[in-house]
Amino acid sequence: MPDTPLKLFNSLTRSIETFVPVHAGEARVYSCGPTVYNYPHIGNMRAYVFADVLGRVLSYSGYKLTHVINITDVGHLTDDADAGEDKLEKAAKSSAQSIWDIARHYTEAYWSDIKALNIRGPMQMGVQDERNWSIATDYIPQMIAFATSIAPEHCYELPSGLYFDVSSVADYGRLARAHTDEGEGRIDPVDGKRNAADFAIWRKTPEGETRQMEWDSPWGRGAPGWHLECSVMSGALLGFPFDIHTGGIDHREIHHPNEIAQNQAHCCTNGLDVAANSGARIWMHNNFLVERSGKMSKSSGEFLRLQLLIDRGYHPLAYRMMCLQAHYRSELEFSWEGLGAALTRLKRMVMGVETLKARHAELVSASIAPPTSAVRGEEWTLKQVQGDVGEKLAQFVQRFEAAISDDLNTAVALTVLEEVVALKKVDAGEKLAAIAAMDAVMGFGLLNLDRKDLRIRPKDAELTGEHVDASIAFRKELRAQQNFPALDRLRDELAAKGVEVMDGDPLGWDWKLG
Ligand code: AMP
Ligand code: ZN
Repeated sequence: MPDTPLKLFNSLTRSIETFVPVHAGEARVYSCGPTVYNYPHIGNMRAYVFADVLGRVLSYSGYKLTHVINITDVGHLTDDADAGEDKLEKAAKSSAQSIWDIARHYTEAYWSDIKALNIRGPMQMGVQDERNWSIATDYIPQMIAFATSIAPEHCYELPSGLYFDVSSVADYGRLARAHTDEGEGRIDPVDGKRNAADFAIWRKTPEGETRQMEWDSPWGRGAPGWHLECSVMSGALLGFPFDIHTGGIDHREIHHPNEIAQNQAHCCTNGLDVAANSGARIWMHNNFLVERSGKMSKSSGEFLRLQLLIDRGYHPLAYRMMCLQAHYRSELEFSWEGLGAALTRLKRMVMGVETLKARHAELVSASIAPPTSAVRGEEWTLKQVQGDVGEKLAQFVQRFEAAISDDLNTAVALTVLEEVVALKKVDAGEKLAAIAAMDAVMGFGLLNLDRKDLRIRPKDAELTGEHVDASIAFRKELRAQQNFPALDRLRDELAAKGVEVMDGDPLGWDWKLG
């Protein structure tokens, strides 16, 4: 286990706490995943980059990680507080496709973004395991069983479905710092609710209507409420109480307080002075990615999907860098300039690592240095790297560990990693090992990235990379000959094809979209 205790901010207690696992040597984490009715925007992806880094820190610290991420394909209404339509039913209606096709399409789009951002999939005891993508509609019988068990003491029926009475559990709303009677201001179309914050556990299909997704239940044909699925799947796959529950900061207000109330009803009943009674010991929330104009949205303004960034020529890991430069609890503003700066930073690192790899390879081929495990691309833990580096690098490893253990301070950890990349007069193999270990947490795959992959390469640029390379080599010749008129002509030709040549850039940014 790490020398520095891992400290994490618990939203439930609003304080930094030392991570003490429920099961020795293990870490069990549940992350609220996407609602698959549309493409995720890059704000959504911030939530998964954050959960990924948390998982990587836990793995690196030596815990066997079990990480469950859910896919919401039913139950999430257009308003988190039980108002509006089911997001998937609505999407299916407006596109005239089957709801199952919609769910599959957007789940795959989400998986593709996850992969592009080097976000690890779910894990089971330290090994990636696809089965821990928990898909809500796979758990309907368990949801009905869960609801049946809590209904007599905690729920009541209305014509529209089964509702949870939030006054039936102690400390309702503590996570949001809200109370039972709050929420009066919310748009609330349901007549007969006992408290404004009461929420649907089961939504009956209105008479005369059929939904594409509906099941029989003791409360009539219908569909589960959104909050139910996360209680059921986290309890089923991780057991109550588990270690950490994550989500975006919006979930701190409605979704997670409601999950907690259900968990209390199901397993714990007592109040929340003991955090584990909430179902998880620690609740963590990432802050929002925002646009200059305000909240990120899928419907208004420019729909910032990861694919848009890629189409404009930015490597997706530039976005990962952008996320890691900020603390996950701070709001982060997206801008194209910021993305460009993050890409430059990543490229600097990759160039440093490329030079180091080349030097190390020379030493190995001259039999001066042994091959290091770093180039074999293993998964790293703190213990491994501590045995692999000498005193000088060990100090950096320690600083890195201190940063990530300080509530995942990736911004500071990145600067330590950069210092190591720039470090002179250290053994190349050891340096590679230290970088590989730190990168196992930051998740760039630095040892396998090629600087050429990081070039800004817009989809609609007319020229291929090879063309541009050749033109730039030619420009260098022209410059050596001081043939300035020809140089200017070539620059204009390239500009006409959407390529802006950036002379004299120390990083060798050869071209970018003009
Ligand atoms: P959804 O697909 O809407 O259920 O959201 C998926 C995840 O993204 C949830 O954890 C949300 O809290 C989170 N989220 C939504 N918008 C943003 C944003 N702009 N920045 C960061 N996280 C977000
Ligand atoms: Zn959830």
